[in-house]
Amino acid sequence: MTHDWRKPGTDNRVVFRIFLQACLLWLASLSPAWAAQDNVAVRVGVFDNSPIVTAVPGKPPEGIAIDMIRWVAEREGWQVTYVPDSFDKLLERLEQGEIDLLVGIAYNDERARRFRFSRQSLIGNWGMVFRQADARIDSLPDLKGKRVALMRSSTHSQALLELARQFDAPFTPVYVDTYQQVLDAIAERRADAGAVNRVFAALHSHQSEVVVTGIVYNPIFVHYAAPRHASPLLIEALDRHLAALKADPGSAYYDSLRRWLEAAPARQVPGWLPWVAAGAGSVLLLALAITGLLRHQVQRQTSELQRRADQLQSEIEQREQAQAHLNQLAYFDGLTRLPNREGFRIALSQTLTGMQDTDERLALLFIDIDRLKNINDGLGHGAGDLLLQQIATRLQSVLRAHDHLSRFGGDEFVVIVSEISASSDAELVATRLLHSLAAPIHIGSTQIYSGASIGIALYPDDANSIDTLLKHADTAMYQAKEQGGNRYLFYHAQQTARVVERLTLDTRLRQALEREELLLHYQPVVELGSRRIVGVEALLRWDDPDRGLVMPGAFISAAEDTGLIVPFGEWVLEAGCAQLRDWQRQGKAEGMTLAVNVSTRQFEGRRLVKSVEQALSRTGLAPECLELEITENVMLIMNEDVRGSLDSLRELGVRLSLDDFGTGYSSLSYLKQLPFHTLKIDQSFVSKIPGQAGDTQIVTTILALAKGLELEVVAEGIETQAQYDFLREHGCEFGQGYLMSRPQPADALAVMLGKPLLASTA
Ligand code: C2E
Ligand code: MG
Ligand code: MG
Repeated sequence: MTHDWRKPGTDNRVVFRIFLQACLLWLASLSPAWAAQDNVAVRVGVFDNSPIVTAVPGKPPEGIAIDMIRWVAEREGWQVTYVPDSFDKLLERLEQGEIDLLVGIAYNDERARRFRFSRQSLIGNWGMVFRQADARIDSLPDLKGKRVALMRSSTHSQALLELARQFDAPFTPVYVDTYQQVLDAIAERRADAGAVNRVFAALHSHQSEVVVTGIVYNPIFVHYAAPRHASPLLIEALDRHLAALKADPGSAYYDSLRRWLEAAPARQVPGWLPWVAAGAGSVLLLALAITGLLRHQVQRQTSELQRRADQLQSEIEQREQAQAHLNQLAYFDGLTRLPNREGFRIALSQTLTGMQDTDERLALLFIDIDRLKNINDGLGHGAGDLLLQQIATRLQSVLRAHDHLSRFGGDEFVVIVSEISASSDAELVATRLLHSLAAPIHIGSTQIYSGASIGIALYPDDANSIDTLLKHADTAMYQAKEQGGNRYLFYHAQQTARVVERLTLDTRLRQALEREELLLHYQPVVELGSRRIVGVEALLRWDDPDRGLVMPGAFISAAEDTGLIVPFGEWVLEAGCAQLRDWQRQGKAEGMTLAVNVSTRQFEGRRLVKSVEQALSRTGLAPECLELEITENVMLIMNEDVRGSLDSLRELGVRLSLDDFGTGYSSLSYLKQLPFHTLKIDQSFVSKIPGQAGDTQIVTTILALAKGLELEVVAEGIETQAQYDFLREHGCEFGQGYLMSRPQPADALAVMLGKPLLASTA
């Protein structure tokens, strides 16, 4: 089992990897000339953790880890001396540099900061709890108040203590130095239970006094480790050989696993055998009979041994599979099969550990897919999932083999770009990532254009801890999104200030409604032919006590993000309807409509219909006097809530208009189906006319389109007489703009009502 957090590659990549490993194996077999330094003295710390490593006084150490050390030592010309000690002492000695390697050490973050770990793991392992035969301990809570034998400094010991604490089942630890002593402590009733690792348990738990419980926990990987500041050569040599050995099912590595994990308890030669043999020498007949009997017994024993070996083999395979499955669950994302947040953390912490004391740099790219929520809402989660899978594949396809892509859930991905020499390297990767999403993605018959916002933080320039790096990359991503998305941005310290500013804005906006700081300005909608005011558009303003009048551009998107737009929108509806009703009562607004802007967020949960009904019934305004302005983006989220709301609004008799037409996403088929009355040409087109042919053509095309669909057209942002004349000549009936009037407070507008505007052009 490799300790490899990368996503499984494409077929080509697998073939390439096998080819690479075969080359490595071949190179490794050219012993010892290749990369070997003859007679390097290597002090290897060993402790008793059979069958990974044994340290029995007076005997040379053995075990899977030792087999591998011997294999590598022979090929690399190492002169190995073994240093037996207890595990916790060995950790100290490794830190002091008194030994060069420690075998059989489980990987964890804290140790990764203290030591230099091999990238390759030796074996996967986990903790198991054994108990006295008559103790009632079946699950973790049963350990409460019990005496539990633990091996000092073992990760499984730490993990069990921690788990018991979380489950509110604290126990009394009985510390010993080896796993064998754990079992002995249970057998001798000095402990009620004890924790050992599963590899040890597979071979050493045959004592009848100890029984396995169902408590299995803490999956880990066993590695080799060297002192933090030692030369990486030893570990690199181990990694090279282990990678090659693990790639070949017939290698010494698998021989060793079979030898140590399948070994059945040694059988004693029966005591009576020599006597029978001696008797056989003197009594031939009897001997023949006994020989027959013995042959039968040997055959029986052989097949029994074979059966047990097969059984153990299948048990090992099952456990390996269970381990792989646990791994998959814990460190990978089910949908895209990329490493998840946890897998990312381990990968980054290993990469950073490997980079300590070097002058290497890396970049963290935080990617957020633009508009995924809209797509999910519009097309359903099934389509959203398919889209995410395709996005993951596209992102992966433009990364190099040593870049690491993970998915943080939702629409967030993170890439670790290691080995960069300049920030432009990270820029290149970000550009490639954006480019990979440029072409539309096909989900069924729908084409989806997705983009991404990418934030980049650099190590060690911006931060040197995982959390801060992530936070900075996230902040930069957030800014990229704020600037319209589909772009990348590097982290700058000022961005943090902007995020703080934004949080303050959110808090102040929340108070704005309670403190009655919101107000409406009204801009006339004019019939271009007669220059009469036929309606007004209500535009929201915020009278901030600190900053004065704040325009919607500065706060609407924050209100949308926080959901505050929903209560804001309800307030606008009611205040606007009340104003028009008031003007009607004064006889100033005969036949006029009130246009109110509605955010797509107001459609969630069909709340919009209720608030419109409420506003109309409270103010007494007729429904046909109210026009709701909805932006084109509503078509992106055309789900049942939106469809149902639009139909109910039509039934109510309210008018609907499509705002900022031409700037977002429009679907002609929706345009035909949906109950719109009016189309508002966005001011960006109006500002370019009469101008060049291309620009004027867009406007004339929109006008023709509206005519074909029998929609009224309002041109927005008319600032010049030339624009006014052009629109009028080309059949545009209505318009709005500074040329006629800027948005005004209600009392200023009241003065204009009932009079024609632009008297000068009459
Ligand atoms: P919009 O609905 O397209 O409103 C028209 C915007 O164009 C208004 O900006 C208006 O002041 C501006 N405008 C009008 N005539 C001209 C002109 O001749 N030249 C130029 N350059 N601009 C002109 P404002 O008031 O800043 O509103 C901006 C946007 O904020 C609105 O665009 C609308 O999308 C949003 N908004 C305003 N009030 C509300 C609201 O109550 N709810 C929601 N959800 N959005 C609102
Ligand atoms: Mg509008
Ligand atoms: Mg508009």
